[in-house]
Amino acid sequence: MHYLSTRGGVTSIGFADAVTMGLATDGGLLVPAELPRVDAATLRAWSQLSFQELALEVFTPFVGDEIPREDLRALIDRSYAGFSHPEVTPVVEAGGARILELFHGPTAAFKDVALQFLGNLFEYLLARDGGEFNIVGATSGDTGSAAIYGVRGKAGIQVFILHPKGRVSPIQARQMTTVLDDNVHNIAVEGTFDDAQRIVKTLFSDLPFKRSHHLGAVNSINWARILAQMVYYFYAWGRVSGGDPERAVSFSVPTGNFGDVFAGYLARRMGLPVRRLVIATNRNDILTRFVDSGIYAAESQVHRTLSPAMDIQLASNFERYLYFLHDGDCARVRALFEGLREHGRIELDAERHARVRADFDARAASDAETLEQIRASYEHDGYICCPHTAVGVHAARGMDDAVCLATAHPAKFNEAVEQAIGRGAPLPSSLQGLMEREQRCVDLPATVEAVKSEIERTLAATGAGA
Ligand SMILES: *Cc1c(COP(=O)(O)O)cnc(C)c1O
Repeated sequence: MHYLSTRGGVTSIGFADAVTMGLATDGGLLVPAELPRVDAATLRAWSQLSFQELALEVFTPFVGDEIPREDLRALIDRSYAGFSHPEVTPVVEAGGARILELFHGPTAAFKDVALQFLGNLFEYLLARDGGEFNIVGATSGDTGSAAIYGVRGKAGIQVFILHPKGRVSPIQARQMTTVLDDNVHNIAVEGTFDDAQRIVKTLFSDLPFKRSHHLGAVNSINWARILAQMVYYFYAWGRVSGGDPERAVSFSVPTGNFGDVFAGYLARRMGLPVRRLVIATNRNDILTRFVDSGIYAAESQVHRTLSPAMDIQLASNFERYLYFLHDGDCARVRALFEGLREHGRIELDAERHARVRADFDARAASDAETLEQIRASYEHDGYICCPHTAVGVHAARGMDDAVCLATAHPAKFNEAVEQAIGRGAPLPSSLQGLMEREQRCVDLPATVEAVKSEIERTLAATGAGA
């Protein structure tokens, strides 16, 4: 399988290069040159497989011959061994809905499904091809811990995660700072999330620094993350349909950066029988407005909501969808994003807009509706959903064939849960004892210089970095 950039400046690179490149060097996103087709007999056979066996089948055409099948199998098995549920991503009937639980990984949020695999994949590629990889990222909560758990203890990789000091929830902070592996470096910056993100962006735009220190990112635009997320759409369909290729199901997907729902879109294009794909957003509803109007335009600010992992203004994976919507016309994609930069908006013609409406439904939930949904699910049978999940369950109301993706364990967001039902959810075993564990973290002023010299000092001390 070959990969190319949505903007046409990178053509025909292999799987390993696509994964280590992350963002394409021309500023676009990497996409597979073609999509494999899955026929009815294959769907029937796949519906019998375990999550791990299914992952091997879904990954194989995308990896091609770059990783031997037995090595790939071992990577997958290692990645999902740390999940607390034997099915990895089980489908449950609960709270009056059908829920695909994606939060049984080590940090209790769905990003583990992709980042556990990505960490093992990076380690494998570095050991085989040589080199080192130093991850730098800023987090407002969930992503940082999932990235840390994905690469903790991995040879050849150091990870630096910046979070705004005192501005992430105590559980989220502890999830990061209690990981004491030598290759994990937490930095609490004395500022806001925007300060942390600005520092990281500045470091990445300093190309000599980036190159000489082998900086890389594991953010949601990495192709391997999309790939890993496709697996559970196939898996959930198998559980719900019983493997009958005539039976389509719908999915409701809490959406921020458009990565998760895009994985479902690709699964459908490969032949998975999906009836409706619902983009579920909170008040930050740029995607809902896009589906309704054909116009993609950011508001002047991000709204803070009870589902903070979806408080996002521009969805970073959206470009991949536009590429497919325009049948692989890279020049057109480039022009649309130039237009977005200059005029702050993308406007589709009527014909494309009709295709968008055929591809997706979209619904936004307010905080009040989110709380109301948590309450309704709880009153049904005692099931507690996290606020992100509740946004998706709310969006699927009235659809009797919908599978709702549960993106985090409710105990990670107990403030919202308590507000809704007057009590918190019990902590999963992975989060128990967190508040008593030893921590390691350095506090730094919110300046590029401070962070830069901390990274340099650390890499020199570990012998990494050239
Ligand atoms: C990241 C995240 C989302 C949004 O996923 P995207 O792939 O960015 O659309 C939803 N819920 C939770 C809990 C998350 O951590």
